[in-house]
Amino acid sequence: MEVFKEMENYGYEQVVFCHNEAAGLRAIIAIHDTTLGPALGGLRMWPYSSEDEAIFDVLRLARGMTYKAAAAGLNLGGGKAVIIGDPRRDKSEALFRAFGRFVQSLGGRYITAEDVGTSVEDMDYIHMETDYVTGVSTAYGSSGDPSPATAFGVWQGMKACAKVALGTGSLSGLTIALQGLGHVGFNLARHLHDEGARLIVTDINEEAVERAKAEFGAEAVEPDDIYDVECDIFSPNALGAVLNPETVPRLKCRVVAGAANNQLLSDSDGDALHERGILYAPDYVINAGGLINVADELQGYNRDRAFKKIAGIHETILKVIGIAERDGVPTYRAADRLAEERIALIGEQRRFHLPSRPTV
Ligand code: NAD
Repeated sequence: MEVFKEMENYGYEQVVFCHNEAAGLRAIIAIHDTTLGPALGGLRMWPYSSEDEAIFDVLRLARGMTYKAAAAGLNLGGGKAVIIGDPRRDKSEALFRAFGRFVQSLGGRYITAEDVGTSVEDMDYIHMETDYVTGVSTAYGSSGDPSPATAFGVWQGMKACAKVALGTGSLSGLTIALQGLGHVGFNLARHLHDEGARLIVTDINEEAVERAKAEFGAEAVEPDDIYDVECDIFSPNALGAVLNPETVPRLKCRVVAGAANNQLLSDSDGDALHERGILYAPDYVINAGGLINVADELQGYNRDRAFKKIAGIHETILKVIGIAERDGVPTYRAADRLAEERIALIGEQRRFHLPSRPTV
């Protein structure tokens, strides 16, 4: 991979290759854009089969964080880090402390967090070397498990979609098909049930399905049948790429709104939803509750303040829909425009005004 070419094409600011032989560390930190603030993004540990694969992943994920933070209204930029290694075999105190020293060396341009393959314990080791880390143990002032925050944000975004597509600000009486009853999905199901929605659920974990039946009076279907369910809202909370040429034609809903990352297999699936008149809540906008929650740690975590900000996802989704209508584009494109317009406007403003202390 030609790294500089990729950096030029997509506007990356900095890519840092980190090596510490004694600790066995091979890591890459990618900082995409710090126009709005320091680059916050998780640290992924994965046994990449090649350096190119690791570089490709860290670059792609860092850029995604720029858009997610910008659309969420946070004063944060986009970054991400990867450690090349097997999280089941290669973890050690020395490894994460070595990584932490590299984070510290960037002086706050990059703030790390948990991601696939890393845990709270790993963040605590990193914290021994740097303050530029979130998601440490609650004893150090962390916000803890992000899933309730993510679920709360999805619920708020779903209500905004219902207002526009179904003409009701309340989900009471609506039928909602939920795919995935994990950390986010189960919390979301509780909000929906409490508001009076009728739930049709699926999960490959039978125990979670039984709990949803018992606690929320949910009806259950087989995992593959969820796409055919007659419903008002389909909510994917399990896997990526569930909106694809095989599933989109099967959907019998007016809205798709869920927490799963990378729901669209490709852009053309977002176009297909748009053509079918199904309102799609862009995944990185509606699932930003966890990010907003963890970002609040940077000011000394306050749950009430964080959840108040997360409630803003309702307004953000309405803004995305407004841009989609203004420009005649599908919502997944409108979300990118919302992020790009905010970065451009604030970036321009900063050029002409005295610097202020940013609040996240
Ligand atoms: P999780 O692993 O706790 O839950 C996922 C659930 O999906 C599990 O119960 C699993 O059994 C189920 N599942 C897996 N394959 C399935 C299938 N084929 N059909 C039906 N169910 C299936 O994960 P989570 O933390 O709840 O996250 C869910 C999604 O939301 C993921 O895509 C994640 O990346 C995304 N997300 C999560 C957060 C967060 O705060 N946890 C934040 C942003 C985005």
